[in-house]
Amino acid sequence: MRNRMIAGNWKMNKTYTEGVELAEGLASELQDGTGSVDVVVCPPAVDLKGVAEVIEQKKAPFALGAQNVYWEESGAYTGETAPDMLTNVGATYCIIGHSERRGYFGETDEDINRKAKALMKHGIVPISCCGESLEVREAGKHVEFVVDQIKKDTEGLEITDPSKYVIAYEPIWAIGTGKTATADDAQEVCGAIRKTLAEIFGQEIADGIRVLYGGSAKPNNVAGFLEKEDVDGALVGGASLKADSFAAMVKAAM
Ligand code: PEP
Repeated sequence: MRNRMIAGNWKMNKTYTEGVELAEGLASELQDGTGSVDVVVCPPAVDLKGVAEVIEQKKAPFALGAQNVYWEESGAYTGETAPDMLTNVGATYCIIGHSERRGYFGETDEDINRKAKALMKHGIVPISCCGESLEVREAGKHVEFVVDQIKKDTEGLEITDPSKYVIAYEPIWAIGTGKTATADDAQEVCGAIRKTLAEIFGQEIADGIRVLYGGSAKPNNVAGFLEKEDVDGALVGGASLKADSFAAMVKAAM
């Protein structure tokens, strides 16, 4: 019912030249296709066009995603990127609400909700991130915290095609630390996310929305997460920066 998804978040890594090289390497690793797994790569904004060209020239089996967007259409918003600009360079997905943007750049759930609406208006699929800090986890309030984020981030969204909205559960304490949540930890929260989505949008829509896990996911542990009922894939940081390790994760999901 839900195609698995493996999405790579390159973060602020890879110059334009390096990004093109990585995309070419990935196209070659995945030349036999990805089966029913949807693969997305999310390079820095200045690399998007170069990666789009690689995808087109090599007929690469992955889609292009951005790492951020602003909700206005155009105008005096120095440094920002409008949804239309992403579409124009071939991006069909966009990460929003990553914990690094929430933490370093002060993004709020209200901002994330506005970004989701702007993206969906332009036909770009949001990959909307949520997740708790170590402090919240240790206080045993992680489920409640994430459910609250989901309610705020999805407020007023109209989801008619559930394949066009993706959630990534990324416990902050597991991102880039090498410390992974267990597959059961991921299932506990991803299951609660789906239950919340069912309350908001109805069971049928909730059953079609992909919920990914992210946080030190690697080729050697991704299969364990994917076995869980409500984990539909992975959002991958560090391990997406090398074509062979990212391709290995895609293959583990096939
Ligand atoms: C991320 O930041 O989205 C992420 C999951 O990073 P890492 O895989 O490096 O923990």
